[in-house]
Amino acid sequence: MPGFSEPGAGSDMAALATSARKDGDVYIVNGQKLWASGALYADRCLLLARTDPDAPKRKGISYFLMDMRTPGIEVRPIKQATGESHFCEIFLNDVAIPATNLVGPENEGWRVAQETLGAERGMTMLELTERLSHGGFRWLVDLCTRPGPDGRTPLDDTRVADRLATLEIELTGLRALVTDFVAADRPGPADASIVKLYYSELLQRMTDFGTEIAGLAAHTELRKPQSSGWESGAWMLDFIGSWEWTIPGGTSEIQRTIIGERGLGLPREPTGHR
Ligand SMILES: Cc1cc2nc3c(=O)[nH]c(=O)nc-3n(C[C@H](O)[C@H](O)[C@H](O)COP(=O)(O)OP(=O)(O)OC[C@H]3O[C@@H](n4cnc5c(N)ncnc54)[C@H](O)[C@@H]3O)c2cc1C
Repeated sequence: MPGFSEPGAGSDMAALATSARKDGDVYIVNGQKLWASGALYADRCLLLARTDPDAPKRKGISYFLMDMRTPGIEVRPIKQATGESHFCEIFLNDVAIPATNLVGPENEGWRVAQETLGAERGMTMLELTERLSHGGFRWLVDLCTRPGPDGRTPLDDTRVADRLATLEIELTGLRALVTDFVAADRPGPADASIVKLYYSELLQRMTDFGTEIAGLAAHTELRKPQSSGWESGAWMLDFIGSWEWTIPGGTSEIQRTIIGERGLGLPREPTGHR
């Protein structure tokens, strides 16, 4: 589980303040992490911490593999709008991480983290796309072909049929993008961002459509309240849950910036921080 984000460092990850001070053959870590997915159950954390406070923001960061059973780690779950507690806050008080758990050279953690984020954006997409096809879309077809009290189905309305067809075409496009991405020996610098952006926004359109077609039942038919996302068929929960996916591993705005800068070669965003 990545321990990158902090209260003051999300999109601007390089602003992270958690410190790691070398002391013999360990690093002593102090600080706070936020939105750590599955931290309650994780054995290890991919931790970013600042090892050189005087270096420019991106230069003084190191990447560690932290055993979650180390003394000084406190994990507090965060309650979400869906009722789940998918992610947590992590408080780190004088946590001693063996120096051998440093990943890559000291102060080169930013570069290592870019690899992790690229993998997070891209590699899980194959599985997620399959789940969207066999879970989310299947539920949509089921919903659109279910007869109402008058014996008619939502699909009898040509506007519904048209939108369902559009979503299927978009899903086919996503599958093609993901297949190309996974097959590429050396994916382009923005490919993972393109796939992640397309997936997360299509998921929103699909669950939005499902919520609209289900009508009142979207609110009352909570089939699997513990497993919101893209495949439970509990449309209101699925719709709320879908918004999560435009945020982790870089928000949609950040993905668009990456596509513009690294993919299209546009001038860099004038932040002055990077
Ligand atoms: C489901 C989920 C799982 C997550 N799992 C993890 C995890 O396991 N480990 C972890 O470390 N973090 C995790 N995160 C945190 C996630 O990486 C951050 O929430 C994300 O990077 C955004 O940071 P932020 O929440 O601080 O928002 P902010 O960075 O404060 O952004 C707020 C808004 O401003 C916009 N914005 C910010 N900067 C710019 C810019 N330069 N240009 C244009 N728009 C901008 C953003 O797009 C967003 O809309 C997870 C988040 C979610 C939702």
